[in-house]
Amino acid sequence: MAIVESKLGPRAAVYDFTLPAGEPWLHMIKQGQTFRIHDLEGNQAVDTLFYSAADHDDRYSASDTIRRQGNIYLSTGTQLISSEGNVLMTLVADTCGRHDTLGGACAAESNSVRYSLEKRFMHSCRDSFLHAIAHADCGLSKCHLTGNINFFMNVPVTEDGKLTFADGISAPGKYVEMRAEMDVIALISNCPQLNNPCNAYNPTPVRLLIWD
Ligand SMILES: [Zn+2]
Repeated sequence: MAIVESKLGPRAAVYDFTLPAGEPWLHMIKQGQTFRIHDLEGNQAVDTLFYSAADHDDRYSASDTIRRQGNIYLSTGTQLISSEGNVLMTLVADTCGRHDTLGGACAAESNSVRYSLEKRFMHSCRDSFLHAIAHADCGLSKCHLTGNINFFMNVPVTEDGKLTFADGISAPGKYVEMRAEMDVIALISNCPQLNNPCNAYNPTPVRLLIWD
């Protein structure tokens, strides 16, 4: 856990948007800008992917990020590493303390396997990602959807090596903040998942801010 607070104030932000639960968001973040995800009501899972704006095939890589830092959880100081070994973002502040990059995004398939067959048709993060890229003329396609980050999500690994979806450790007002090390495209699904304790069975909005 590395709790580091930010010195940035929302009034100085050049971008300030509240993303409702279950909605996707796709946005450019320029090199040197700072990006904050603010967990307004607590324990909201924010499924996130990053791509180099110049080369979409150079995208967030969970395995390279874990290997480079020697830690499966993300927090202040974590560099988000791309599939080509470049640094996309650096986490510079974090009042939650730990974020998951192992659990992946919920999908119709995982909903039916994890919960029940009748949950297959519920909203999912994979569908939100697909919706966002289908409506943005940005060159991303479904083959660009790979292992993502789940900000604010608590997925501890047990001693026998199993993944558990546990109650969140975030709370209302916690945030994570990161600096873009290159021009990136950020793709978010603010998770609609009602069946997972990670967002307390209650998906809620998040606030997204960018500073120059
Ligand atoms: Zn989800």
